[in-house]
Amino acid sequence: MIVVMQADATKKQVEHVVYLVQEMGLKDHVIVGTDLTVVAVIGDDRRVDTGTLERASGVDRVVPILAPYKIAAREAKEDRTQVKIGPDCLVGGRQVPVIAGPCSVEGEQAILDMAQQVKDAGATALRGGAFKPRTNPYSFQGFGEDGLKMLAAAREMTGLAVVTEVLTPSEVDLVEKYADCFQIGTRNAQNFKLLEAVGKSTKPVLYKRGMSMTIDEYLQATEYVLASGNPNVILCERGIRTFEDHTRNTLSISAVPELHHRSHLPVVVDPSQGTGYARLVPPMCRAAVAGGADGLIIEVHGDPEHAMTDGAQSITPAVLAEIMPSLSAIGELVRQ
Ligand code: PEP
Ligand code: MN
Repeated sequence: MIVVMQADATKKQVEHVVYLVQEMGLKDHVIVGTDLTVVAVIGDDRRVDTGTLERASGVDRVVPILAPYKIAAREAKEDRTQVKIGPDCLVGGRQVPVIAGPCSVEGEQAILDMAQQVKDAGATALRGGAFKPRTNPYSFQGFGEDGLKMLAAAREMTGLAVVTEVLTPSEVDLVEKYADCFQIGTRNAQNFKLLEAVGKSTKPVLYKRGMSMTIDEYLQATEYVLASGNPNVILCERGIRTFEDHTRNTLSISAVPELHHRSHLPVVVDPSQGTGYARLVPPMCRAAVAGGADGLIIEVHGDPEHAMTDGAQSITPAVLAEIMPSLSAIGELVRQ
């Protein structure tokens, strides 16, 4: 359940509600919105006497949350969550921010060039994997910390915020040192210890849906990050496994409005992993924004044929520049 405080509730009244929740043997999670503060009650609240909470001073109402995800649930928060990656990339606002860059960091000069080119095309954050989760252990695994340093140099040069993947709990501190936003990949989507580890940070987390996860499982797993204390979660639909094989994954655009229906968290779409083919990326970018996506994460490479990873699904900076105006136009249209 959540306890919705009155608009003019004092800090003391909120603290008293927290005290009552803890006295009932449950865990509290205070969410401070722009207009209202709510206290999410976490744990098995079925036997709780809600009257005690309803009668506490400063309380407006007590709302049961039937969903198993208490903090991520739409009802837990009046306003939609906005997440800022670095100083300039706002996810969940009126604009449609684009996070763009190569699948992998391939070298210092390469990432510097790419950062400048995606910035010129209109991207507001840079992506690039320094630690790569590869299906085959003999494939290129990324440059590790050296790759993180190259990303930091690209940020230094362009001002673009850096989004990069973290693979293990033990590398969270290292990645945090260089990145503006953690990426949790599809293969780690149910690595609960990793989710808890990034949940202890305050840096944003771009958390991809597992390729075989239902939306319900996805939001339950999101709770690991939120309940660990980090509210800055960006959900990401990146395609799921189906019987269909004309694309690498099946990009579920309908997941976007469904996630918005169930949760207050912003949702971005990754049409690159979502399709596997560069020619499908522009139309799927437009479809995602039309479906209400709060942003996009797109793989871009200057020479896709020679990319070290995921060249087939990488668009060029020229194509990115070409599609940007239509993305903001569609974004404007659907936000009216
Ligand atoms: C990627 O973004 O390059 C990546 C590996 O993504 P995913 O985890 O969605 O496969
Ligand atoms: Mn990739």
